[in-house]
Amino acid sequence: MKKATFTLLGVGTSSGVPRVGCNCSVCHDCKPGSKNFRQRVAALLEIDGKKLLIDAGPDIRNQLLEHKVERIDALLVTHNHFDHIAGIDDVKWATDYRRESIPIYANRPTIVDLKKRIGYLLKPVAMGVLPAFYLREIKKWEVLEFDSIKVQTLFYSQQNEGHSRPTQVCGFRIGNLAFLTDIKQYDARLIRALKGVKTLIVGAIRDGESVAHFTFDEAYQFSKLVKAKKSVFIHLDHTVDYHLASKRLPPNVELGYDGWKTEIDG
Ligand SMILES: [Zn+2]
Ligand SMILES: [Zn+2]
Repeated sequence: MKKATFTLLGVGTSSGVPRVGCNCSVCHDCKPGSKNFRQRVAALLEIDGKKLLIDAGPDIRNQLLEHKVERIDALLVTHNHFDHIAGIDDVKWATDYRRESIPIYANRPTIVDLKKRIGYLLKPVAMGVLPAFYLREIKKWEVLEFDSIKVQTLFYSQQNEGHSRPTQVCGFRIGNLAFLTDIKQYDARLIRALKGVKTLIVGAIRDGESVAHFTFDEAYQFSKLVKAKKSVFIHLDHTVDYHLASKRLPPNVELGYDGWKTEIDG
C-alpha cells in the first residue's frame, strides 16, 4: 500500500468539549488549540491524492476549513447518531457538487435513516445538475476499494441510553491502522479482523462508568486482546483532562486530540 496519512479531525464525545452550560475545570479552561478542546468525532484518510472523510458531525464545517479540505472523494459514515451525521449538508461544498455525485458509504440502518434526513441532497436540484451524494450500503465485513486503497469494514455495536436496542456501528481498518468509535459490544470476529493492527484508534469516553461506550479500562482490555502496539482513545468527554489523564495511562496508550495524525504504511 502507498503511504497514507490519517488525521483525527475531532475526538470529542457527542456534546463536544467544552460542553454548553458546563463550568467544570476542563470546560472552563479549554480554548481552541488546547488538547482539551474537542470537536465531534471525524477523521480524514489521505492517500495517493484521494481524500476519504469518516463521519460528518455538527463541527465538520470548521474541521474542513481548519484542515483546508477542499474536495473529498467519499464520505464513510460509522453510524446514524447526530454527532456523526449532523454536518453532512456542509460536506456538499467539498464535493464537485452539481457536476459529480460522491458516495456516502454506510451500514443499512444508517442508509435507511439518511434517506429520510438528507433526501434532498440525493436528488438533483435542477435539470442537468447532479446531486451532491448518492448512498452506497456497506455489507458486513466488506472490503471497500478506492483505487489502490483497501478499507476493511468492521462491525460492532454501541449500547444506547434510553433506547432498547443497540446501534450497529461500522469501523474501518486501513493497513495496520484501525478506527473504531462508539464501541461497547463486539464478538470474536472483530478481534480476528484486527489481527496485526499496530495503531488502534478506539472510542473510550472516560475513566469511569458508561452505559453506551467503552470506559478507559474496557478500551485497554480490548486493546490487549487486539495486541495493538499503540492505542489511541477518542470520543472523550469533559471529565478527561488531557494532561492529568495521560500520566495515568499505560505506556502503549495515548489520548487522541483534534489534529492528531499518523502515517500508515501497510
Ligand atoms: Zn458518537
Ligand atoms: Zn465540563
